[in-house]
Amino acid sequence: MSVDTEVIPLARPVIGAEEEALVLEVLRSGQLSLGPRVPAFEQAFAARLGVAHASAVSSGTAGLHLALRAAGVGQRAGEEVVTSPFSFVASANSILYERATPVFVDVDPVTLNIDADAAAAAVTDRTTALLPVHIFGYPADVPGLERLSLPIVEDACEALGAVHADGVPVGGRGHPAVFGFYANKQITTGEGGLVALGDAALKQRIDSERNQGRAPNMDWLDHDRLGFNYRLSDLACALGLAQLQRLDGMLADRARVAAAYRDAFAADPIEDLTLPCEDQGGNRRGWFVFVVQLPHRVDRDETIRALAARGVQSKPYLPAIHLMSFYRERFGHREGQFPVTEDVAARSIALPFFPAMTESQVARVAQELRAVLGA
Ligand SMILES: *Cc1c(COP(=O)(O)O)cnc(C)c1O
Repeated sequence: MSVDTEVIPLARPVIGAEEEALVLEVLRSGQLSLGPRVPAFEQAFAARLGVAHASAVSSGTAGLHLALRAAGVGQRAGEEVVTSPFSFVASANSILYERATPVFVDVDPVTLNIDADAAAAAVTDRTTALLPVHIFGYPADVPGLERLSLPIVEDACEALGAVHADGVPVGGRGHPAVFGFYANKQITTGEGGLVALGDAALKQRIDSERNQGRAPNMDWLDHDRLGFNYRLSDLACALGLAQLQRLDGMLADRARVAAAYRDAFAADPIEDLTLPCEDQGGNRRGWFVFVVQLPHRVDRDETIRALAARGVQSKPYLPAIHLMSFYRERFGHREGQFPVTEDVAARSIALPFFPAMTESQVARVAQELRAVLGA
């Protein structure tokens, strides 16, 4: 295939000789799980964020589930957790796992994160916890939510490398904060996740619950509480260790690609196309995806098909959770409840975005989008 007909993928991980070497070492060691790479990865990750503890788990979703349980969700009937409808579905689903109700509040039109005042207004005497999502790697207003004095679980699955205005890395405030390591995330372990947290007792609880409810000092087949199998293997943790070593370089590359997109669109603007918000007030995005909101009245799905025909992958990103059929049927949600989320969700597409993306690939994506939109 020639360069200009090559398909530009949506995402692509960076895997090199270091990953191969560390994984091979585990393969040859014969200890593929419950071995030394798990605490090594946890400690390296916690040190990077400046938090006391971390628990590696099998996915971001598993991490959200255990973090919510650790925050006290799931102990009585009728509980509510206040969260964002503009997220990947896992953040709301994890609330349902514990039979609590996700209470959605609309997002800020600029940052696309949960609005702290709207969250405050949604709190009732049934609210057990708050679940902000750092969407697209932009720091949510966790300091604003801290004023509500409720347990907070952070969905930081898209936000490795982000920093709050006060200089604290996202996930480093001490609340259970969940990261995800699916192949398109800032670092990948194939599948995987991790809960970063400040409280040693909560770390113990999560470590036990990810491992069938077994206490650290118990025999293999003794279990003193309900647990799950949410463990992450040593193979995956070895991959994670290698990825952490190259994290700064990969984050810098993602920032470079984002800057190239901004330049390409600034050089020849498309009317009414909304780019990801710039960093504001000292908050710093940890680049994860490059999501644009298409001009109003453009057919989003048709645009995605036309881009695909021109060799550019893209994806609706993200659909509003409350309008998914399962949520509509279960909770009676309908259009008009969260106008900002609904408008943004209907117009948003993720463009190809990965650390190895070249400036000329970025230019080609911008050019094809311009052509498809007739701009
Ligand atoms: C990736 C992601 C998750 C977790 O995904 P897993 O596939 O379970 O690792 C959760 N929330 C958000 C917002 C995500 O982007």
